Amino acid sequence: MIEIRNLTKVYPNGTRGLDDVNLNIQDGEFVAVIGLSGAGKSTLLRCINRLNDATSGQILIDGEDIASAQGAELRRIRRRIGFIFQQFNLVTRLSAIENVLSGRLGYHNRLSGLLGLWTEQDRELARTALERVGLGDKLNVRVDQLSGGQQQRVAIARAVAQQPTLILADEPMASLDPKLSHVIMGILKQFNQDGISVLINIHVLELALEYADRIIGFNKGQLVFDGKPADLTPAE
Ligand code: ADP
Ligand code: ADP
Repeated sequence: MIEIRNLTKVYPNGTRGLDDVNLNIQDGEFVAVIGLSGAGKSTLLRCINRLNDATSGQILIDGEDIASAQGAELRRIRRRIGFIFQQFNLVTRLSAIENVLSGRLGYHNRLSGLLGLWTEQDRELARTALERVGLGDKLNVRVDQLSGGQQQRVAIARAVAQQPTLILADEPMASLDPKLSHVIMGILKQFNQDGISVLINIHVLELALEYADRIIGFNKGQLVFDGKPADLTPAE
Protein backbone atom coordinates (compact mmCIF):
# COMPACT_ATOMS: atom_id res chain seq x y z
CA MET A 1 0.00 0.00 0.00
CA ILE A 2 1.06 3.59 -0.70
CA GLU A 3 0.50 6.27 1.95
CA ILE A 4 1.27 9.87 1.05
CA ARG A 5 1.28 12.31 3.93
CA ASN A 6 1.53 16.10 3.76
CA LEU A 7 3.54 15.92 0.54
CA THR A 8 4.78 19.32 -0.65
CA LYS A 9 7.14 20.07 -3.52
CA VAL A 10 8.43 23.61 -3.97
CA TYR A 11 10.70 24.00 -7.02
CA PRO A 12 13.83 26.16 -6.67
CA ASN A 13 12.07 29.02 -8.49
CA GLY A 14 9.33 29.03 -5.83
CA THR A 15 6.61 27.19 -7.82
CA ARG A 16 4.53 24.93 -5.59
CA GLY A 17 4.29 21.78 -7.69
CA LEU A 18 2.49 19.95 -4.86
CA ASP A 19 0.82 21.54 -1.86
CA ASP A 20 0.17 19.37 1.23
CA VAL A 21 -1.12 16.27 -0.57
CA ASN A 22 -2.58 13.38 1.44
CA LEU A 23 -3.51 10.16 -0.34
CA ASN A 24 -3.67 6.41 0.30
CA ILE A 25 -3.63 3.84 -2.49
CA GLN A 26 -4.65 0.28 -1.64
CA ASP A 27 -3.06 -2.79 -3.19
CA GLY A 28 -4.59 -3.57 -6.55
CA GLU A 29 -6.26 -0.19 -7.18
CA PHE A 30 -6.30 1.41 -10.65
CA VAL A 31 -6.15 5.15 -10.01
CA ALA A 32 -6.26 7.84 -12.70
CA VAL A 33 -4.88 11.32 -11.96
CA ILE A 34 -6.55 14.11 -13.88
CA GLY A 35 -6.05 17.88 -14.04
CA LEU A 36 -4.97 20.65 -16.37
CA SER A 37 -1.39 21.01 -17.58
CA GLY A 38 0.64 22.39 -14.68
CA ALA A 39 -1.71 20.96 -12.00
CA GLY A 40 1.02 18.83 -10.42
CA LYS A 41 0.33 15.36 -11.86
CA SER A 42 3.86 14.70 -13.11
CA THR A 43 5.37 16.13 -9.96
CA LEU A 44 3.31 13.67 -7.90
CA LEU A 45 4.49 10.63 -9.88
CA ARG A 46 8.07 11.86 -10.00
CA CYS A 47 8.14 12.39 -6.24
CA ILE A 48 6.74 8.89 -5.61
CA ASN A 49 9.58 7.35 -7.64
CA ARG A 50 12.17 9.87 -6.38
CA LEU A 51 12.86 11.23 -9.84
CA ASN A 52 12.08 14.43 -7.93
CA ASP A 53 12.86 15.05 -4.28
CA ALA A 54 9.88 16.23 -2.25
CA THR A 55 10.39 19.36 -0.15
CA SER A 56 8.49 17.87 2.82
CA GLY A 57 6.16 15.03 3.67
CA GLN A 58 6.26 11.23 3.56
CA ILE A 59 5.66 8.61 0.88
CA LEU A 60 5.32 5.19 2.48
CA ILE A 61 5.63 2.22 0.12
CA ASP A 62 4.51 -0.81 2.15
CA GLY A 63 5.51 1.12 5.27
CA GLU A 64 8.92 2.33 4.08
CA ASP A 65 9.43 6.03 3.37
CA ILE A 66 10.87 6.47 -0.11
CA ALA A 67 10.86 10.26 0.32
CA SER A 68 13.72 10.07 2.84
CA ALA A 69 15.46 6.82 1.81
CA GLN A 70 19.05 6.95 0.54
CA GLY A 71 21.53 4.71 -1.25
CA ALA A 72 20.88 0.97 -1.20
CA GLU A 73 17.61 1.36 0.72
CA LEU A 74 16.30 3.79 -1.92
CA ARG A 75 17.27 1.41 -4.74
CA ARG A 76 15.57 -1.48 -2.98
CA ILE A 77 12.28 0.41 -2.46
CA ARG A 78 12.45 1.77 -6.00
CA ARG A 79 12.58 -1.72 -7.48
CA ARG A 80 9.00 -2.17 -6.32
CA ILE A 81 7.89 0.69 -8.57
CA GLY A 82 7.72 0.46 -12.35
CA PHE A 83 7.72 3.80 -14.20
CA ILE A 84 6.27 4.35 -17.67
CA PHE A 85 7.14 7.61 -19.42
CA GLN A 86 5.39 9.60 -22.11
CA GLN A 87 8.47 9.27 -24.35
CA PHE A 88 9.12 5.56 -23.56
CA ASN A 89 12.75 6.17 -22.37
CA LEU A 90 14.05 3.00 -24.00
CA VAL A 91 17.65 2.40 -25.04
CA THR A 92 17.04 2.69 -28.77
CA ARG A 93 20.07 0.68 -29.91
CA LEU A 94 19.17 -2.33 -27.78
CA SER A 95 16.66 -5.06 -28.60
CA ALA A 96 13.26 -5.36 -26.94
CA ILE A 97 14.41 -8.13 -24.60
CA GLU A 98 17.65 -6.30 -23.72
CA ASN A 99 15.60 -3.26 -22.73
CA VAL A 100 13.37 -5.38 -20.53
CA LEU A 101 16.37 -7.14 -18.96
CA SER A 102 18.11 -3.82 -18.28
CA GLY A 103 15.08 -2.79 -16.22
CA ARG A 104 15.56 -5.82 -13.99
CA LEU A 105 19.16 -5.03 -13.15
CA GLY A 106 19.09 -1.25 -13.15
CA TYR A 107 18.63 1.19 -15.95
CA HIS A 108 20.92 0.91 -18.99
CA ASN A 109 23.11 -1.72 -17.41
CA ARG A 110 24.63 -2.98 -20.63
CA LEU A 111 27.68 -4.35 -18.89
CA SER A 112 25.54 -6.96 -17.14
CA GLY A 113 24.39 -8.19 -20.51
CA LEU A 114 27.89 -8.24 -21.96
CA LEU A 115 29.12 -10.20 -18.97
CA GLY A 116 26.18 -12.59 -19.17
CA LEU A 117 24.91 -11.67 -15.71
CA TRP A 118 21.31 -12.20 -16.72
CA THR A 119 20.11 -15.49 -15.36
CA GLU A 120 17.82 -17.85 -17.21
CA GLN A 121 15.13 -16.80 -14.71
CA ASP A 122 15.65 -13.14 -15.74
CA ARG A 123 15.36 -14.10 -19.40
CA GLU A 124 12.22 -16.14 -18.80
CA LEU A 125 10.57 -13.23 -16.93
CA ALA A 126 11.54 -10.84 -19.72
CA ARG A 127 10.21 -13.16 -22.42
CA THR A 128 6.96 -13.69 -20.53
CA ALA A 129 6.48 -9.95 -20.03
CA LEU A 130 7.02 -9.27 -23.74
CA GLU A 131 4.65 -12.08 -24.70
CA ARG A 132 1.96 -10.61 -22.42
CA VAL A 133 2.17 -7.23 -24.19
CA GLY A 134 1.88 -9.02 -27.54
CA LEU A 135 5.53 -8.74 -28.59
CA GLY A 136 6.59 -12.36 -28.31
CA ASP A 137 7.70 -12.25 -31.94
CA LYS A 138 9.84 -9.09 -31.48
CA LEU A 139 12.18 -10.18 -28.68
CA ASN A 140 15.38 -9.59 -30.62
CA VAL A 141 14.31 -6.61 -32.71
CA ARG A 142 16.07 -3.31 -31.94
CA VAL A 143 13.51 -0.98 -30.42
CA ASP A 144 14.26 1.78 -32.93
CA GLN A 145 12.82 -0.58 -35.56
CA LEU A 146 9.49 -0.76 -33.67
CA SER A 147 6.48 1.55 -33.93
CA GLY A 148 5.69 4.01 -31.14
CA GLY A 149 2.92 1.79 -29.80
CA GLN A 150 5.22 -1.23 -29.81
CA GLN A 151 7.95 0.78 -28.05
CA GLN A 152 5.54 1.78 -25.31
CA ARG A 153 4.57 -1.89 -24.93
CA VAL A 154 8.28 -2.74 -24.49
CA ALA A 155 8.42 -0.04 -21.80
CA ILE A 156 5.41 -1.59 -20.04
CA ALA A 157 7.06 -5.03 -20.24
CA ARG A 158 10.23 -3.52 -18.74
CA ALA A 159 8.23 -2.10 -15.83
CA VAL A 160 6.33 -5.35 -15.24
CA ALA A 161 9.44 -7.57 -15.40
CA GLN A 162 10.73 -5.76 -12.32
CA GLN A 163 7.80 -7.47 -10.54
CA PRO A 164 6.62 -4.18 -9.04
CA THR A 165 3.80 -3.71 -6.55
CA LEU A 166 3.03 -0.35 -8.21
CA ILE A 167 3.17 0.93 -11.76
CA LEU A 168 3.38 4.70 -12.28
CA ALA A 169 2.51 5.86 -15.79
CA ASP A 170 2.95 9.52 -16.76
CA GLU A 171 0.72 10.27 -19.78
CA PRO A 172 1.79 7.01 -21.50
CA MET A 173 -0.46 7.61 -24.52
CA ALA A 174 0.41 11.27 -25.06
CA SER A 175 2.93 10.67 -27.84
CA LEU A 176 0.93 7.90 -29.56
CA ASP A 177 -1.88 7.80 -32.09
CA PRO A 178 -5.12 8.14 -30.05
CA LYS A 179 -6.32 4.84 -31.58
CA LEU A 180 -3.67 3.07 -29.48
CA SER A 181 -4.98 4.45 -26.19
CA HIS A 182 -7.29 1.49 -25.62
CA VAL A 183 -4.49 -0.98 -26.38
CA ILE A 184 -2.22 0.62 -23.78
CA MET A 185 -5.01 1.00 -21.19
CA GLY A 186 -6.12 -2.61 -21.79
CA ILE A 187 -2.59 -3.89 -21.19
CA LEU A 188 -2.27 -1.85 -17.97
CA LYS A 189 -5.68 -3.13 -16.84
CA GLN A 190 -4.61 -6.72 -17.47
CA PHE A 191 -1.55 -6.31 -15.21
CA ASN A 192 -3.67 -4.49 -12.64
CA GLN A 193 -5.99 -7.52 -12.53
CA ASP A 194 -2.94 -9.60 -11.60
CA GLY A 195 -2.71 -7.41 -8.47
CA ILE A 196 -0.29 -4.62 -9.45
CA SER A 197 -1.54 -1.18 -8.38
CA VAL A 198 -1.60 1.39 -11.18
CA LEU A 199 -1.37 5.17 -10.80
CA ILE A 200 -1.68 6.86 -14.19
CA ASN A 201 -1.66 10.50 -15.29
CA ILE A 202 -4.11 10.92 -18.09
CA HIS A 203 -5.55 13.96 -19.78
CA VAL A 204 -8.40 12.20 -21.63
CA LEU A 205 -11.21 12.05 -19.09
CA GLU A 206 -13.20 9.43 -21.05
CA LEU A 207 -10.31 6.95 -20.75
CA ALA A 208 -9.99 7.60 -17.02
CA LEU A 209 -13.73 7.01 -16.58
CA GLU A 210 -13.65 3.79 -18.59
CA TYR A 211 -10.65 2.08 -17.03
CA ALA A 212 -9.99 3.46 -13.54
CA ASP A 213 -11.58 2.33 -10.27
CA ARG A 214 -10.84 5.68 -8.74
CA ILE A 215 -10.13 9.19 -10.01
CA ILE A 216 -8.04 11.84 -8.31
CA GLY A 217 -8.15 15.44 -9.47
CA PHE A 218 -5.43 18.06 -9.04
CA ASN A 219 -5.53 21.82 -9.36
CA LYS A 220 -2.56 24.09 -8.58
CA GLY A 221 -0.73 21.34 -6.71
CA GLN A 222 -3.68 20.50 -4.48
CA LEU A 223 -5.76 17.34 -4.44
CA VAL A 224 -9.26 18.68 -5.15
CA PHE A 225 -11.21 15.51 -6.04
CA ASP A 226 -11.04 11.87 -4.97
CA GLY A 227 -13.86 9.55 -5.95
CA LYS A 228 -15.26 6.86 -8.19
CA PRO A 229 -15.79 7.37 -11.93
CA ALA A 230 -19.56 7.20 -11.27
CA ASP A 231 -19.25 10.33 -9.10
CA LEU A 232 -18.11 12.23 -12.21
CA THR A 233 -20.76 10.84 -14.53
CA PRO A 234 -24.03 12.81 -14.64
CA ALA A 235 -26.99 10.89 -13.20
CA GLU A 236 -29.64 9.79 -15.74
P1 ADP B 1 3.51 18.72 -19.43
O1 ADP B 1 3.22 19.11 -20.85
O2 ADP B 1 3.55 17.26 -19.17
O3 ADP B 1 2.69 19.47 -18.43
P2 ADP B 1 5.60 20.54 -18.78
O4 ADP B 1 5.64 21.39 -19.99
O5 ADP B 1 4.91 21.01 -17.53
O6 ADP B 1 5.03 19.13 -19.20
O7 ADP B 1 7.07 20.14 -18.37
C1 ADP B 1 8.02 19.66 -19.28
C2 ADP B 1 9.37 19.62 -18.57
O8 ADP B 1 9.74 20.94 -18.15
C3 ADP B 1 9.33 18.78 -17.30
O9 ADP B 1 10.57 18.12 -17.16
C4 ADP B 1 9.14 19.78 -16.18
O10 ADP B 1 9.73 19.32 -14.99
C5 ADP B 1 9.86 21.00 -16.73
N1 ADP B 1 9.20 22.25 -16.30
C6 ADP B 1 7.88 22.51 -16.31
N2 ADP B 1 7.62 23.72 -15.85
C7 ADP B 1 8.83 24.28 -15.55
C8 ADP B 1 9.23 25.53 -15.03
N3 ADP B 1 8.34 26.49 -14.69
N4 ADP B 1 10.54 25.75 -14.87
C9 ADP B 1 11.42 24.81 -15.18
N5 ADP B 1 11.10 23.60 -15.67
C10 ADP B 1 9.82 23.33 -15.85
P1 ADP C 1 1.25 18.47 -14.78
O1 ADP C 1 1.96 17.17 -14.83
O2 ADP C 1 -0.09 18.37 -14.11
O3 ADP C 1 1.18 19.15 -16.11
P2 ADP C 1 3.61 19.40 -13.39
O4 ADP C 1 3.74 18.50 -12.22
O5 ADP C 1 4.46 19.17 -14.58
O6 ADP C 1 2.07 19.44 -13.81
O7 ADP C 1 3.85 20.89 -12.93
C1 ADP C 1 3.27 21.43 -11.73
C2 ADP C 1 3.78 22.84 -11.57
O8 ADP C 1 5.18 22.80 -11.28
C3 ADP C 1 3.63 23.71 -12.82
O9 ADP C 1 3.40 25.03 -12.38
C4 ADP C 1 4.99 23.58 -13.49
O10 ADP C 1 5.27 24.70 -14.29
C5 ADP C 1 5.90 23.50 -12.29
N1 ADP C 1 7.13 22.76 -12.57
C6 ADP C 1 7.23 21.50 -13.03
N2 ADP C 1 8.51 21.13 -13.16
C7 ADP C 1 9.23 22.21 -12.77
C8 ADP C 1 10.62 22.49 -12.67
N3 ADP C 1 11.54 21.55 -13.00
N4 ADP C 1 11.00 23.69 -12.21
C9 ADP C 1 10.10 24.61 -11.88
N5 ADP C 1 8.76 24.44 -11.94
C10 ADP C 1 8.35 23.25 -12.39
